[in-house]
Amino acid sequence: QQLEMTDLAIAGRATLKPIVEIASAAGIDEDDLELYGKYKAKVDVFRKKAGEANQGKIVLVTAMSPTPAGEGKSTTTVGLGDALALEGQRVVIALREPSLGPIFGIKGGAAGGGYAQVLPMEDINMHFTGDFHAITSAHNLLAALMDNHIHQGNALNIDPRRIQFRRVMDMNDRALRDVVIGLGGPTEGVPRESGFDITVASEVMAIFCLATSIDDLRERLSKITVAYTYDRKPVTAGDLNAQGSMTMLLKDALKPNLVQTIQGTPAFVHGGPFANIAHGCNSILATNTAREYADIVVTEAGFGADLGAEKFMNIKSRFGGLGPDAAVVVATIRALKMHGGVPKTELGQANAQAIRNGFANLKRHIGNIRKFGIEPIVALNRFTSDTDEELAIVEELVRAEGAEVAIANMWAEGGEGGRDLARKVIQAVEKPSNFHHLYDLDLSIEDKIATIVKEIYGGSGVEFSAAAKKRLEEINDNGWSNMPVCMAKTQYSFSDDAAKLGAPTDFTISIRDLQVRTGAGFIVAITGAIMTMPGLPKEPAALRMDVGDDGKAIGLF
Ligand code: ADP
Repeated sequence: QQLEMTDLAIAGRATLKPIVEIASAAGIDEDDLELYGKYKAKVDVFRKKAGEANQGKIVLVTAMSPTPAGEGKSTTTVGLGDALALEGQRVVIALREPSLGPIFGIKGGAAGGGYAQVLPMEDINMHFTGDFHAITSAHNLLAALMDNHIHQGNALNIDPRRIQFRRVMDMNDRALRDVVIGLGGPTEGVPRESGFDITVASEVMAIFCLATSIDDLRERLSKITVAYTYDRKPVTAGDLNAQGSMTMLLKDALKPNLVQTIQGTPAFVHGGPFANIAHGCNSILATNTAREYADIVVTEAGFGADLGAEKFMNIKSRFGGLGPDAAVVVATIRALKMHGGVPKTELGQANAQAIRNGFANLKRHIGNIRKFGIEPIVALNRFTSDTDEELAIVEELVRAEGAEVAIANMWAEGGEGGRDLARKVIQAVEKPSNFHHLYDLDLSIEDKIATIVKEIYGGSGVEFSAAAKKRLEEINDNGWSNMPVCMAKTQYSFSDDAAKLGAPTDFTISIRDLQVRTGAGFIVAITGAIMTMPGLPKEPAALRMDVGDDGKAIGLF
């Protein structure tokens, strides 16, 4: 095994097939492809005539609460797709597009790892087909139109102190969290406080991922609440007449991107909201397009199942009219040890007791998936440092919970390493799905949040700040309380305190603020100290990156 090789080196040695071949093998008409070079294509889903649409089953890949390095959900999603293909299934993978923030921070890319990657990984991780650029531009166009409207006389009576729409960029840049704009005198705009969020937290990103057609996209964009008037009435993008130009900027981006895995399995990589500060799932258009060409679609929701999976089940599935037929929960020995109290520097050492203690975290995630009517399968993502004894402990603990478990070795072996997992997944999707949402939309926003906190996080209650209480009043007064809730919470803990590992109990969740996303169609609840613009760590991964004489990336993990 060439386990010393980096993801980048493994990707560099893979032989890619022309994307037209991948498409044709999947049954995608060449006329529907828009090529971006030889190995990437957009599929023009708007050109295609509506036919008798196939509805492939959906396998949702999620995880236990992760370590900062990630537990291998993308790796498992890609590898499971490859393994299902080896088992003779017609399979298409659907993943999110990576953000530049984590790439240059600590976490690295999001194109899978080892022998379970989507290619071309350099492109996918950087710029790709320009979707993030388009989303960032459409978002900032609306911000520019709004500030210009105020500058040009403010016919809509926007109160500059009550503007909620900020600007975005795809970078971890804490210096832009809070800024003052419009300085310089009467010709330079109206001075006010504002700030930047990372693009993956943008409402335009969320809309992009939830839209089901161009019309739906335009309609949702027009419903974005940007600000309030002096008499506290909401002002929308539609009031500014911004929806047409924003839709125009997004029209090509909205077509799902087709690429391939190292093994040649087709994969859509499209849209990329984070799961801690946004809803964490690839686009509905990509998932639904994948379903048309596959009997099984493997898709991922970000971070732990308390975040991405909860939002997949309560937000994406509602708007997309889809639900998972099976769920895979990725676990690793290192995360179990971390939740069992082992410091980050000692995760490589054998420690059976810590694994048993840390299992509390995985156990709660298993129980949570069952609350949606889905029987989870645990994929134990194998690292070279894991011993057979350690893996056996986890298998025994999972089986004691009555759940299926498979050792997943796709990072080292590609699809071959996931045969057992694939067979268990095939069995699971053959059973009828009892999927249901966790809460009804008729519940108040407070009750929806309380349901998530109690049922999914295991907390005892919710505290609203004074600011959040004011927001609640606004939400009720404007008739917005029937929307689902998108929790913004740390991914490291079930609680809103990143340091509370394992399966904490008796904690309350503090709601610092509520943000109204009338275009996306949800209310964001900001908990604890979570930031919608991340910062870089002391030693950013960017410091190790360069380009070689061959024009290829170096140090892209
Ligand atoms: P997630 O999607 O859960 O955030 P990724 O699949 O992106 O996690 O994996 C995070 C990092 O961990 C990647 O760099 C990947 O190569 C690495 N990784 C994943 N699985 C393994 C494994 N079994 N052994 C070693 N490294 C792994």
